[in-house]
Amino acid sequence: MKKLRKITNGILIFFLFLVVIVVINTYRKSSNQIQVPPIKVKKVDENTVAKHLREAVRLKTISSRDDASLNEDEFKALHTLLEKQFPLVHEKLKRERINGLSLLFTWAGKNPKAKPILLMAHQDVVPIAPGTEKEWKEPPFSGAIKDGAIWGRGSWDNKGNLLAQLEAVEALLKEGFEPPCTVYLAYGADEEVNGLRGAAAISKLLASRGVELAFVLDEGLLILDGVLAGLKKPAALIGIAEKGYISIKLTVNATPGHSSMPPKKGTSAIAMLSYALSQLEENQMPAKIRGVAKEMFDALTPEMSGFTRIALSNLWLFGSIVQSQLESKGSTNSTLRTTTALTIVNAGNKENVLPGRAEAVINFRILPGDTKEKVFEHVRSVVSRAIPEGTFSLTILPGAVEVSNVAPINSLQYTALQRTVREVFPDAIVAPGLMVAATDSIHYQNISKFIYKFSPFRVQGGDLNLFHGTNERLKIKTYVDAIRFYERLLTQMTKEAL
Ligand SMILES: [Zn+2]
Repeated sequence: MKKLRKITNGILIFFLFLVVIVVINTYRKSSNQIQVPPIKVKKVDENTVAKHLREAVRLKTISSRDDASLNEDEFKALHTLLEKQFPLVHEKLKRERINGLSLLFTWAGKNPKAKPILLMAHQDVVPIAPGTEKEWKEPPFSGAIKDGAIWGRGSWDNKGNLLAQLEAVEALLKEGFEPPCTVYLAYGADEEVNGLRGAAAISKLLASRGVELAFVLDEGLLILDGVLAGLKKPAALIGIAEKGYISIKLTVNATPGHSSMPPKKGTSAIAMLSYALSQLEENQMPAKIRGVAKEMFDALTPEMSGFTRIALSNLWLFGSIVQSQLESKGSTNSTLRTTTALTIVNAGNKENVLPGRAEAVINFRILPGDTKEKVFEHVRSVVSRAIPEGTFSLTILPGAVEVSNVAPINSLQYTALQRTVREVFPDAIVAPGLMVAATDSIHYQNISKFIYKFSPFRVQGGDLNLFHGTNERLKIKTYVDAIRFYERLLTQMTKEAL
């Protein structure tokens, strides 16, 4: 009896101890958000800026990878429109046309010794997905202003960013502001099709002039309102890295034959390919809360409430529960691992013939820490465990990109960015994040270590489908805040001794 009581007491003490540790961990880490005094909200003429953006949206600047001159007239019309809308920008800044359609503006700084900064956006837009035209409530290139929003392809991605930056610069010029450091505005015309004629060429040009950029801001992650579980406040996520990209073709060969006498179970080309693919899905590259994802949770956790906060503060205890939760959702899973996506399958062309060859393409988005080579080795090892050596071959498809560098968060640049976000969006929590999609800021890696990807747009969960989607639109209120953000950023970031 005594012994039993001793054991029960022991267990009780152990659990109490556990609870105490969990509670301490949960509340030990205080907020790491920068506290900033409120700033005066700048006046923006909503009607004028909305009108400017709608006019830009009306131009069909759809880009093509192969045809550099596709829609040339539309791009040139956009350049003329911008000249008309932003006269001071065109008077005081130097404008260069790169490869005909991409634009580089140079706003010379007062201090020639200060390192320059660069803001990016792109002029081109993605086409309307065939068959979805009728689903648009307003025609996609109408630039309609309805329900407090500017409607149309490009209103958000990326003419919203581009014009918001120009509105900010125009307003600052009107006030007589002179930036201490040089500011570049780089507006590619081919971001949606890899940015080789735009961003890559501009970066090369700047490098040839000996330019090293102290700060680059591109489109990127957003201010997510009510999207993250356990977080009541909006989260302004600043992209500090971009995942890599590789597609691998798996070809399986087997003896072709007549379907009336199929070979032994599991040895036809299709059977082997199917099994190998299922094994690739089953045995994915490992997921872990580390790197950028860890830094994101470190910044967000102290702002959270409920069990999410308790669990994230005690990963030593709840790590596996948290991880399996995150892995179960596509959006969060992609921040924890190099993802595996089976995207193309090809085999057979006659119903009564066993094909001698079956092929598939698997697309991977590479997490910082992994490499193209590591992914290839992983595929080779999984496939060779699944099907016999000699029956398959692996090829890397063109277009593979290594994962980007990770921009530092212990930097003046990140701090200034964080401060500006908090000034313009006082209720938002700032955290670093990982871009799972590709942008063309990767082309600036050779001339800057400080590349951040952030679009100052406050969005709700449902808005995320509008990006590259049907009924793309941007709320005027959201747009006005973005203008305020760029204006404040330009005054803050050019002041920093970077
Ligand atoms: Zn974009």
